[in-house]
Amino acid sequence: MNNKNAALHTVLIIGAGLSGLTLAYYLKKKGITARLLEARSRIGGRIFTSYQEGTAPLEIGATWLGKKHQALNNLLTELDLGIFEQILGDSAIYEPISTSPPQLVSLPPNNDPSYRIRGGSSILINTLVEKIGKENILLEQIVTNISSTTNGISVKTKTDEFQANLIVSTLPPFLLISTIEFEPNLPEALKKITAATHTWMGESIKVGLRYSRPFWRAENSSGTIFSNVGPIPEMYDHADAEEQYFSIKGFFNGAYFSISKKERLEMVLTQLEKYYGPQVRNFVSYEEGVWRNEPFTYAPYDQHVLPHQNNGHAIFSDVLMNGKFYLAGSETAEQYPGYMEGAVRSAQRVAKQIIENHSSLVS
Ligand SMILES: Cc1cc2nc3c(=O)[nH]c(=O)nc-3n(C[C@H](O)[C@H](O)[C@H](O)COP(=O)(O)OP(=O)(O)OC[C@H]3O[C@@H](n4cnc5c(N)ncnc54)[C@H](O)[C@@H]3O)c2cc1C
Repeated sequence: MNNKNAALHTVLIIGAGLSGLTLAYYLKKKGITARLLEARSRIGGRIFTSYQEGTAPLEIGATWLGKKHQALNNLLTELDLGIFEQILGDSAIYEPISTSPPQLVSLPPNNDPSYRIRGGSSILINTLVEKIGKENILLEQIVTNISSTTNGISVKTKTDEFQANLIVSTLPPFLLISTIEFEPNLPEALKKITAATHTWMGESIKVGLRYSRPFWRAENSSGTIFSNVGPIPEMYDHADAEEQYFSIKGFFNGAYFSISKKERLEMVLTQLEKYYGPQVRNFVSYEEGVWRNEPFTYAPYDQHVLPHQNNGHAIFSDVLMNGKFYLAGSETAEQYPGYMEGAVRSAQRVAKQIIENHSSLVS
């Protein structure tokens, strides 16, 4: 273990997803430089865009936002990043039951469209990294212990030890209490709520296929799919903002997390073949994200937890360990918890708490 006692960090943020990076960005604007510890070898957490030269970027994680997501929209505007509308078209392929063929159904006008981030959701992550400085993010630092000390707070990772004045966790709350040990232990009330707090999209599987042409845009067809038969329950046109490169992307039944990628791909192609014929097999590339198999997003629950259960609970705003330990992360936001909007809002809340409670840190 490499003890980094010599460097006393003012603020350490655990997790370099949207919450952690946004918090570091807001703190930096107030003259506070935070250091981030990230378990993965990549930045972004549940935001991950797959880029492949000369093809459409594929969102493996977060994709859509709405106009109602004001904090996120404001952040995007401040960072000079654009959005574009998700294409739904005026019809969808609909498969109600396995015993009857898929149908093409008309879609009503969409008065509340969804939007995507131009260039891919990871553009937001990469822009925040540029603002806060890559040197402030330490990758492959898997936090295992957090302890209150006489002078501050200490964090152990699998390889190193760090000392700080303040620590902020941005882990999904359930992952935090399932994977990190605390000295002294966290309050019982918090542990009880957290043990039944759902990690949004933790069980999900996303699948996407890149093609050289958008054959689903033909007459009497659509790239919007709703199926009760599955294994893909919903799928959408996923061209880039410039409509230069083409792909379709959707969700895959999360129960199939333990089969191989090859088996999932074959199931994807078999379903799409029903709608579009054998041309579906001429894809440029296939990508998937099986989030349940990601130990830095998902941990198995001991009890049945409903989607969004306890997301946004007021207890997550409590400051812990004698004012030295804060909880951020999308699931801790009182509004839009679980979503990118929640991640930004949780960062705003903790930035405000730190600035108010520790005014001597602000320069
Ligand atoms: C498949 C999928 C689709 C989604 N679709 C949408 C969507 O369309 N719209 C929307 O608004 N939201 C969507 N979301 C949700 C959105 O991605 C999240 O709300 C947001 O990205 C959460 O950011 P966060 O920083 O709070 O958490 P995370 O992104 O989970 O970040 C936590 C970070 O902590 C790190 N970490 C974990 N354990 C440790 C440890 N022990 N030590 C150090 N670091 C650790 C993780 O690696 C991660 O980088 C989707 C999520 C998924 C998975």
